[in-house]
Amino acid sequence: MNLETQISSLKGVGSRKAEALAEIGIFTRGDLLEHFPRRYLDRSTITFTTDLQKDAQATIVGKVTGAKMVRGRRRSYFEMVVADERGFLKCRWFNGAHWIQKRFKKGDIIAVSGKVDFYGGFQMVHPDFDILSEEGTNPINTGIIVPLYPSGQKLQSAGLDSRGFRRLLYPLMEGIESGLPEFLPKEMLESYKLMGLGEAIRDIHFPEDMEALKQARHRLKFNELFFMQLLLAIRRQSQTETVKQNRFEGYGEYLASQYEKLPFELTKAQKRVMTEIWEDLKSSHPMNRLLQGDVGSGKTVISLLGAAIAAGNGYQTAIMAPTEILAEQHFKNAVKFFEGTPIRVVLLTGSQTAAQKRDLRKALKEGYYHVAIGTHALIQGKVHFKNLQFVVIDEQHRFGVLQRGELLEKAAEADVLVMTATPIPRTLSMTLFGDLSVSIIDELPAGRQKIITRKVDVHILPKVHKFIQDEIQAGRQAFVVYPLIEESEKIDLEAATLGFEKFKALFTEFQVALLHGRMSADEKEAIMQAFSRNEIQLLVSTTVIEVGIDIPNATVMLIENAERFGLAQLHQLRGRIGRGQHRGVCVLVHRKMSPDSIDRLNIMVETLDGFKIAEEDLRLRGAGDIFGTRQSGLPALKIANILWDGDILKEARKAAFALIKIDPHLRKGIHAGIRHIVLDKYAEYSEMAGIG
Ligand code: ADP
Ligand code: MG
Repeated sequence: MNLETQISSLKGVGSRKAEALAEIGIFTRGDLLEHFPRRYLDRSTITFTTDLQKDAQATIVGKVTGAKMVRGRRRSYFEMVVADERGFLKCRWFNGAHWIQKRFKKGDIIAVSGKVDFYGGFQMVHPDFDILSEEGTNPINTGIIVPLYPSGQKLQSAGLDSRGFRRLLYPLMEGIESGLPEFLPKEMLESYKLMGLGEAIRDIHFPEDMEALKQARHRLKFNELFFMQLLLAIRRQSQTETVKQNRFEGYGEYLASQYEKLPFELTKAQKRVMTEIWEDLKSSHPMNRLLQGDVGSGKTVISLLGAAIAAGNGYQTAIMAPTEILAEQHFKNAVKFFEGTPIRVVLLTGSQTAAQKRDLRKALKEGYYHVAIGTHALIQGKVHFKNLQFVVIDEQHRFGVLQRGELLEKAAEADVLVMTATPIPRTLSMTLFGDLSVSIIDELPAGRQKIITRKVDVHILPKVHKFIQDEIQAGRQAFVVYPLIEESEKIDLEAATLGFEKFKALFTEFQVALLHGRMSADEKEAIMQAFSRNEIQLLVSTTVIEVGIDIPNATVMLIENAERFGLAQLHQLRGRIGRGQHRGVCVLVHRKMSPDSIDRLNIMVETLDGFKIAEEDLRLRGAGDIFGTRQSGLPALKIANILWDGDILKEARKAAFALIKIDPHLRKGIHAGIRHIVLDKYAEYSEMAGIG
């Protein structure tokens, strides 16, 4: 069976259909076979009209016994009566009534799905519908599972409603089981218990029974996840084929002394991560490691110890932060850390003058500085290093493949450590960043007290104010955060400004300041500095307070309209407090609550565990919202879901990595089919090092 056959040469596809299909990306027979049903109808999914319940979602199947335009009080609408063997249901369309009217004939067997209303009888308004057949047989009665296809107005107008797709696809099923070339080797099919490709395509469209459908879905999900993982395996493979010129001979002369000088003992997790990093550094291939550690878990010191090893081996280090404030914080930490050693640290920022920058760049290029810190400007254009080998990217939330690419141009063989405080559930990080090694700091330094989180209704606020006052009196500091109101930065600012005025009037004996996104970088910086010197005791802010800002004396955070924040953001904000010896308290003030926001705030109250919060966040929002797969540079998934299909993902990953291990360049004859798909279908996603 030729999958490349143009759709227009298939029987029953005229130019109108071909055009409508092209719009949804269907050009060939192969594309059409991958237009999978969105749902299926069989007896188990159908409700009798006598069992309907108001406000519930339901699907009923019956015969159209009446269909007419009705003149309503304000405008006409289309009304259709559908009768099953026990009763009937009315369906009404107020929008597009005339267009809908043309779709039905009396006697059609149809399925309608939607929310059930009751107005003197059961009815549905604007239900989804699907014409199953003309008068005569009802496929449901004959025990057939009917596939329902995604469609749209243009497709429907061209005759490609669900029924149209069924008609188009059904004839293609003949002989498909043997006719469709299988690309997976036989042993793989056997050891992963996978259905053959032809059989799976047939059964996803026209399954005999639910078990066949389940098997088919399993195989096709496996396909998608397998190729996704294969791309990662290939990327990883090409990394391990790169051999570093710069070798690490040992820890160098600085590590031990710097380690001794630390004012604290590293946690077990920090020590483990250091070992993992060291293993990577001394290997002959570049490190590509993701370090995940919750806020306050102590990632900075890891990067500095790494820099000490690099310097001890005669190499330079670059540390990149997402913002200037954070770059400066790293700079100060680094200067303090390397005090008393010959290691020189430099900060490159946007606010330096052109002449300053030129001098610093020159010194960097000549190798005068050992550690360079800055924002992403550090890897851009004019900056050159003498022998950059260790690169740290801090607080990177978007793992832009492009940025990494850009970086690798500058130092193709550099050892790269990406640090993130955004916990990524394991399933996700494996899926999206399977080409990175992952280190996790899963414990906080000893002596930290647990942050207490409370959600309070707005009328409790006076008590909260009193509490803040007591904390400040006791020498602590506090944040008050106002949410970002999506539509308008202005309203956003207003809320924070009003809050600021209120707190200033309340806390006359303390310094209260306002921080917001419209201030210049200098103004913001000045305020953050004053806050960190405790010249300001209460900081009222919009959401601009930086992720990663470290002010151990701040113990209270009041979050206004907490119901408007997402979980990940609440967690990041809360991480600004409780970083020192004193107990932190986070107060979530809410006003209007929806079931969803109640869920979110409860999760915040119940746990401090960033990974758990990330999992819950995923559950509530779905994966798509958090990491667009585009951001990760991987193809979008059509049928598999990385959240729900974790088990298949694991298998697919195992299969893909094992394959690349035995045949790194997909040169073996039995892998020709796989190779073809990688080069053809996934070409744009793969930097096909050595393949092709
Ligand atoms: P993050 O992982 O959020 O970047 P930081 O590196 O800023 O965390 O560390 C938070 C605070 O904890 C800093 O003040 C740091 O000096 C301190 N710290 C780091 N490691 C330890 C440790 N093992 N014991 C005690 N304090 C530590
Ligand atoms: Mg940090």
